[in-house]
Amino acid sequence: MKCFKFRFEKLDLELPSWWAPIGSPDPPRPYQYPKPAVRRACDSCGESSPEVYIEGWMCFTDSCESFWKIDGADPPASLHYNPAFLEERTKWPNKVKAPYSLKPAMLPEDRGNDACYSVSHACWKGFSCPKCGRCNSREDWNEWKCQTEECDYTYRIKRLVLSPQAISNPHDPVTDGHAISKDFISGPVTEKVDFLENYRVHTYDIADCGTITHFMANRTINERADGPDDLFLALQQADIGLKRFPLKNSTCK
Ligand SMILES: [Zn+2]
Ligand SMILES: [Zn+2]
Ligand SMILES: [Zn+2]
Repeated sequence: MKCFKFRFEKLDLELPSWWAPIGSPDPPRPYQYPKPAVRRACDSCGESSPEVYIEGWMCFTDSCESFWKIDGADPPASLHYNPAFLEERTKWPNKVKAPYSLKPAMLPEDRGNDACYSVSHACWKGFSCPKCGRCNSREDWNEWKCQTEECDYTYRIKRLVLSPQAISNPHDPVTDGHAISKDFISGPVTEKVDFLENYRVHTYDIADCGTITHFMANRTINERADGPDDLFLALQQADIGLKRFPLKNSTCK
């Protein structure tokens, strides 16, 4: 396993940082660049690395035999950063602009006639609350909701309502007559087949346990008023509190 550590730097050192506590003084102008950490070229690979830890210099080329070694030996378990390395800043070319804000933009409210937008990959994603700043996962089916207790921010976009026809499989159409069973059984289970008006009814007897009855519908049943097709449409538009719950082992909070 490889483990990476990143050291981020601000691009425009004279602009106040968005992460600075409210009321902090503005950064000094012009910015005073401190003396950077000492660089040394590696005896084994020739690549230059900064002195990152005060315990001693090491090569940071991961393919090098001297990588992560101080004078040829493994470093101590506890290492301390060299303040010069933490405080050094790169002199970027004048007026270089960050490609985009680290804080993601909110999804546009309306994308015209783009029917699939609400089920797009972008819409699975969470958001950074414009009111309190918290980064939230998308948990609710109906909306984006900020998880901060005192914050009431919610956000919605027009959602696509799928028809049963749109997700039907043309190679496995809904039957006009009785349904075709795709059930299978194994072991000591017995199956009894009945036809009850438009239903195909399979009853499975599990020895010493009980029975399971599978009612298989056909088109007449699915399409009747307030039947399964109407329910499918209604459930996509009603708020029945559908949401994602964190997995037991999830570290996402
Ligand atoms: Zn090296
Ligand atoms: Zn993804
Ligand atoms: Zn919020």
